[in-house]
Amino acid sequence: MAALPSSAAPCPPERRIMRSGSGSSPNCAPLKCNKRKVIRAMGGSVLVTGGAGYIGSHTVLALRHAGYSVVVIDDLSTGARDAVPDGVPFVEGCAGDGRLVAEILRRHRVGSVIHFAGSIVVPESVADPLKYYRNNTCVSRKLVEICVAEGISAFVFSSTAAIYGIPDQVPILESAETRPITPYGRSKLMTEWILRDTAAACEAFRYAALRYFNVAGADPQGRSGQRTARPTHLIEVACHAALGLRDGLDIFGEDYDTPDGTCIRDYIHVSDLAEAHVLALRDLNDGGTSAALNLGNQRGHSVREVVAAVGRISGRNFLVRVAPRRAGDPAELVADSTLARKRLDWQPARSDLDTLVADAWRWHSAHRP
Ligand code: UDP
Repeated sequence: MAALPSSAAPCPPERRIMRSGSGSSPNCAPLKCNKRKVIRAMGGSVLVTGGAGYIGSHTVLALRHAGYSVVVIDDLSTGARDAVPDGVPFVEGCAGDGRLVAEILRRHRVGSVIHFAGSIVVPESVADPLKYYRNNTCVSRKLVEICVAEGISAFVFSSTAAIYGIPDQVPILESAETRPITPYGRSKLMTEWILRDTAAACEAFRYAALRYFNVAGADPQGRSGQRTARPTHLIEVACHAALGLRDGLDIFGEDYDTPDGTCIRDYIHVSDLAEAHVLALRDLNDGGTSAALNLGNQRGHSVREVVAAVGRISGRNFLVRVAPRRAGDPAELVADSTLARKRLDWQPARSDLDTLVADAWRWHSAHRP
């Protein structure tokens, strides 16, 4: 049997900056909603876990623009300290460090939490599932426990279309069966179950699980963008190939049951996605009930279409090879996001493919690694 690749610890050793005895409830204690604290915490600031990462940093910008005060926790395993805007309090640490999180919630009078911190690379999750169950499921479970104990009433969770697996129908509705085909999808679905069961047991705790389709693009003002050490996501890979930072791009499979044989995905601009988080938070704070919402542009593009768009917009030629299929790739994932659009009054503004690729290209050409 092949050995699993060893993965780095999810978070650096806990940075305990607080008194002992604060934080988690004792093992086996029943879930206790802290209603007194809920009242205190309502209207407080927003804790963003993973706020130094790609989607997290865009959401911090959107929250600030909307007038929220924000505090960020990030272990910097993939995020960048300078992605957090000046003036936003930053704590380097793990979102699953109960004592540390409890201290932040109290010190910053946090009323709501947006939880991005986690691992997101599908093929890596196939090779190293335990990393995903630890970083995504176990960390989230601990964070939710602390949030309940500290009276957090609104929790927005970064979920994924990967929880659907291979859908029976496209576009995909939230009511579709969830049958994830990768550890990444299962690790996120388990967190959705944790949230659902917690909200059922604790009336004061409400959540929105936002199921992202393919997130890409960069802040139109150039303040943030993707900066993955070893890119795996299609648009970032294609931009790097166009910049000559890699020797071309592999298309993973050309024998899918789609018009051009390559996989179809629904690409959503990261700034539109960030805006949806602000709206979801506002909805919960205004008394909205817990919900799972698809966030996509409701339009599918094949890998070939995306690669052609990057070539056209960058004006660069790069080598494109056809490679075998990649593990864990469904042929087609396209959102039906009517629910999010209606409930949140959300209207993606920059998610047409050319605008999205142009924003990504501008960012990557200005920030070569
Ligand atoms: N893809 C590809 N070559 C790459 C990266 C991705 O052909 O270098 C394909 C991948 O197989 C999938 C689509 O592009 O069909 C989107 O993959 P990505 O990793 O960007 O996002 P995912 O859909 O896995 O979340």
